[in-house]
Parts: sequence; structure tokens; C-alpha cells
Amino acid sequence: MSDATDRPILFRNGLVLTMDDAHTILPNADVLVIGDRIAEVGPRLAAPDDAVEIDATDGIVMPGMIDTHRHMWQTAMRGYGADWTLTQYFVWYYLESGKLFRPEDIYAGNMLSAIESIDAGVTTTVDWSHGLQTPQHADAAVDALQAVPGRFVLAYGNIQQGPWEWSASDGFRDFVNRRITPGDDMLGFQMAFDVTGDPAFPEKAAFQVARELGVPVTTHAGVWGATNDDGIRLMHENGFMTPQNIYVHAATLTHDSYHRIAATGGSVSVSTESEQSAGQGYPSSYTLREHGIPVSLSMDTSVWWSGDLFTAMRTTLGADRSREHDLAHRDSQTITQLHLRAEHVVDWATRGGSKALGLDDKVGSLQAGKKADVVLIKNDDSPVMFPILNPYGHVAFQAQRGDVDTVVINGRLVKRDHKLVGIDLGAARRNVDATVEYLIGAMGREAWDKGMYPDIPETKIQENPYTYTDWDAGSAQWKR
Ligand SMILES: [Zn+2]
Repeated sequence: MSDATDRPILFRNGLVLTMDDAHTILPNADVLVIGDRIAEVGPRLAAPDDAVEIDATDGIVMPGMIDTHRHMWQTAMRGYGADWTLTQYFVWYYLESGKLFRPEDIYAGNMLSAIESIDAGVTTTVDWSHGLQTPQHADAAVDALQAVPGRFVLAYGNIQQGPWEWSASDGFRDFVNRRITPGDDMLGFQMAFDVTGDPAFPEKAAFQVARELGVPVTTHAGVWGATNDDGIRLMHENGFMTPQNIYVHAATLTHDSYHRIAATGGSVSVSTESEQSAGQGYPSSYTLREHGIPVSLSMDTSVWWSGDLFTAMRTTLGADRSREHDLAHRDSQTITQLHLRAEHVVDWATRGGSKALGLDDKVGSLQAGKKADVVLIKNDDSPVMFPILNPYGHVAFQAQRGDVDTVVINGRLVKRDHKLVGIDLGAARRNVDATVEYLIGAMGREAWDKGMYPDIPETKIQENPYTYTDWDAGSAQWKR
């Protein structure tokens, strides 16, 4: 597909959100991609003769979005856990059924999730891959990520063992030597594990492996009922809190822990949709802003939600503003000016991610010399695409994944005119179908259905003092 790889690409006449340090917005501007890089950004650029021209008129051109925490293997069970809390999630994956996943199931989930990312304009995704029970599972995860033309970071984890166990195994070391190339910006590497707060700090050995390999650690921190301040304190006291660390959720911590994160330069991956449904704690962006802690966005897992950072931006704005209003109302105060702006969440979805991942010199903004990860939001058939008055507000509150017209990753066209380019969606579907069929067979239909629909607790209706009306609630009718 020479059209997709070799020729320069010119986005013509769009509203360009550069997301550079000054957040420069260029109306009626062009973005020229040559090779894997952005060559030029500006008005009326001269096009090389063989350039593929993409008409960006009435559209928004922005940097590819970056998701810093997604359990991609779980996309094979898309939507299954829609009504779960964190408790059902833990029981299903950690205790009862997660170990059923074979390497081919990891492959199937990762493949679908990777395609979903690029389709939604998420050009870099961290695969928080904690289902890697064997190195064969890890090979399958990477095979899928490398079969899709996106930018990924494998965050290696295994919830079936302690991190001090799997990180010390020969298989893990061998895998890293075979499959991971330091400095490869198409496939980065992290270690992914949680710190339980056990005073013996058994996770220390895994941190030492990460330090020896020179790779970042990503960890679910401040998760109600699972991880808390003890974990942060142990990491800090043992010298393992670095600017490369990514703390996921960080939703139920005390100020002391936030101070320790802020003082050591780490960042937090906020998964608002997840925190709101699953119960890790109130989405932390409001508190993180108070502490000056850098934020990136993530969507966590498609077993509940879709891999869509438009929704992440929208829900994060909503949750942060809800908290701001609610705290004020409790003091009988009124918020007349909001702190968190649409511009901020667009920054978190782009630069927040590139900074968290140490990729800020390569991606995250549309600037000459950076790697070309470019998204065009445009939909001439949509009544929601005009007028575009407040560009950041348009991205965060008006646009959605169906409006992603064109995606370029590392200089390669992977989506154009709303259609994926060179992607075998049929093969992805067959693989996922096989995984679902296998899981149902292995669990039994009854257990499968029961896992999907947890019991609903009884709702206690409040006693109502206004009983003088003639409304009959039982029949939903007036009594006379
Ligand atoms: Zn997670």
C-alpha cells in the first residue's frame, strides 16, 4: 500500500490545534507530513508533487491522543462487565476466571483494542497487560500490538503471581531481551504491578528489576479497598518514586501521599469513567490540580467502557466540575467561574500523555520535527460539526469517535474518510468470536451469564411524608 506509507501527506485548510507549549491555534492552516515526521505546520504550505492531499476544511486537526492505561486483553470481553463494581472485576479476573485466558485470547483482545484505538484517534496506547501468565502470553500481546500500525507501550504484568516472582523469572528476562528494543518509540516498555502495603514490601524486588532494566513502573495507587497510602509510603521510603512512575487512579489517598507524588515528579493517569462506575474513589483530577501533579487520561478497560478519549475528556470535565460545585454548595457558596477548562483536558489527552510516557520530544503536539501522529476530526454529514467557535470545547463536548475522519501514525495513513486503511477487521472479529466461545465453554453458560449480571441489591424507598395525595404508586394512577 504505497499510498499509505511512502508519499507525503498534506492536511489542507483545517483548524489546527497544535498543542505546542503556547497552545497555538491556527485557523485555515495546513500540516505537512514527510516520512515519519511533521515537516511543516502553517497556512498555504507548498505541497510536494506526490503528496496525498486531505481536505481538512470545516475540520479540526489535532495531535493523536494518548491513553496511558488500558487493559487491552480484556477487550475480548467488550461490554461484559457493564454492571460490575470493582469487586466483580477482581473476582472475575483475579480470582476465578482470568487464568482461563490463553495466549491466543490475549492476542485477540489486544488486536481488537489496538484497532479500536487507532480508529478513535488514540495513536499511542499503554497496554497495561496484567494477564501475562507466561512469556507465551507476553509474546502474543506483542504480536498483536506489532500487527497493528499504532504506537504502543507494553506495560508487563501478571496478576496470577506476585511481581517479585514473575519479574525474577528467566522467562521474563528472556522476553525483554527478545522483544523489547530500548528507545523504540513504536513499542515502549514499562513494568506494571501494584503495591499492596504489606509492611515487608515484597514488591521491592520488582522495583529493583525495573531500576536495573531502566524502565518505568506503572501502578494502581489509591484504589479503594485495594491500594492505599501505605503503598505510596513504602515506595517513597525505599526510593522508588521517580518522575517516570505513573500512578493509576490515585483516587483515595491522603494529602501526604499526593505530596509525595508531587515532590518526586510522578504523574497520575486519571480514568474518570472507571472511577465513577467501579469505585476506586472520586476521580482525582480536582485534587491533583490542588497539588500540581501532572495528569494524563486513560479509559482502563473495554470490559466496561470503550477505548475513546473523547469520553474520557468529557467525563473528566464533568466530574471535576461536579466536585467543584458540590464542595462550594456544602459551604453555601456559588461557583461563578470554573477552574478546569476544556483546553486543559485536551492538553491532558495529548501532552499529558506524551510527558507521562517520556515521549514529549517525539509526539503530543503538531510541531515540525516531531513524529507525525495526526488526527482530523471532520464530519460533513453531522449537524454537530458546525459552527466551530470554541475549538477545545468542540473537541471535548461536541465531537465523538465517529467524527474521526483521518488518522496518521508515524507518518502512515491508518484511517481515511472514516474508514480504517489496511486493517483486517474480519480477522479480528473471528479471533474474538473464538475467544468468547472458548470462555463460555470453559466456564459453562450459566456461570458466564451469572458473571455478566450481578444481583441487584434491594432498593429501600424513602418514607414519604406527603401521603395526602390520591396518587397510587402501585398502579401508577390517580385513585379517582
Ligand atoms: Zn487498571
